[in-house]
Amino acid sequence: MVPTPITVRVPAKVNLHLAVGDTRADGYHELATVFQALSLTDEVTVRSGEPGIDVHGEGADSVPTGSGNLAWKAVRVLAERCGRDPDAPGVQVSIHKGIPVAGGMAGGSADAAATLFALNALWRLELGRDELADLAGRLGSDVPFALQGGTALGTGRGERLVPVLARHTYHWVIALDRHGLETPDVYRELDRLRQSSAGGNGADGVEPVLEALASGDPRELALLLGNDLQAAAVSLRPGLRRTLRAGVEAGALAGVVSGSGPTCAFLCEDADSAVRVAAELSGAGVCRTVRVAQGPVHGARFAGEDRTD
Ligand code: ATP
Repeated sequence: MVPTPITVRVPAKVNLHLAVGDTRADGYHELATVFQALSLTDEVTVRSGEPGIDVHGEGADSVPTGSGNLAWKAVRVLAERCGRDPDAPGVQVSIHKGIPVAGGMAGGSADAAATLFALNALWRLELGRDELADLAGRLGSDVPFALQGGTALGTGRGERLVPVLARHTYHWVIALDRHGLETPDVYRELDRLRQSSAGGNGADGVEPVLEALASGDPRELALLLGNDLQAAAVSLRPGLRRTLRAGVEAGALAGVVSGSGPTCAFLCEDADSAVRVAAELSGAGVCRTVRVAQGPVHGARFAGEDRTD
């Protein structure tokens, strides 16, 4: 019997708060971040067959289809874990991108998380959440959060997660840039700015952000959005300054560069406001396109499962 193809939907993330600490001995920076999963999603389908990976949707041209794809690394890691040949795993992976590529929203990490989740079912491995999260952490700092979703505090490289209570639904407008930014370049620029003491710490402590999330008031949260990588992203892409200003002028409560950028995320008062901000921002000529999104949403789950948040 050929097992049914399995499709998993997985969310993008925005960092509500991202404090970048010192570089560790392993070359990673120590992070304290608050992630929120947003309703911009990729869909990953796995089926038994000739090994291979295909990618569709927006930005698919710039995504590797071979061993460089993070989803394929997930196939190999899980194959090794369960005693299959990682060079001949007998699985095909199809990715449909809805998350901007190289946009600071962890699209590649999301695909890796979705692949782990889907293969766990296809291969009937019955690995628990903790074991999947452990494998996810080996694949990349943002992969465990894509599995978990919701809102969470991340420490270490961002992979050590504690869920954060956020009952309110937040309404976002997401401004996508014409070209991506590579995450390592942005960290290098931050290090350079800090050496010349121009890169100061933009993000303060995490506790006020957690309190604002508990209060559920988007205006409180808006005052606290912060990202230490923002100065570096803006330094590499000065036009982002104009995008951030335009979002606030269009009526958003606040804007922040998402992760390593160049995507900008604007927090809005409510759903109607988000639609108005999106319309105005798309006419302002400061970005390639805009999307409306809500958060928090679930982490990786089978397509077709109802949202309960
Ligand atoms: P992050 O915020 O996790 O650092 P990002 O959201 O800025 O990453 P991604 O969309 O994950 O960026 O892509 C980063 C790079 O990874 C791209 O240049 C792309 O070539 C490569 N990549 C590998 N696998 C994937 C994938 N499945 N989807 C998108 N990009 C991928």
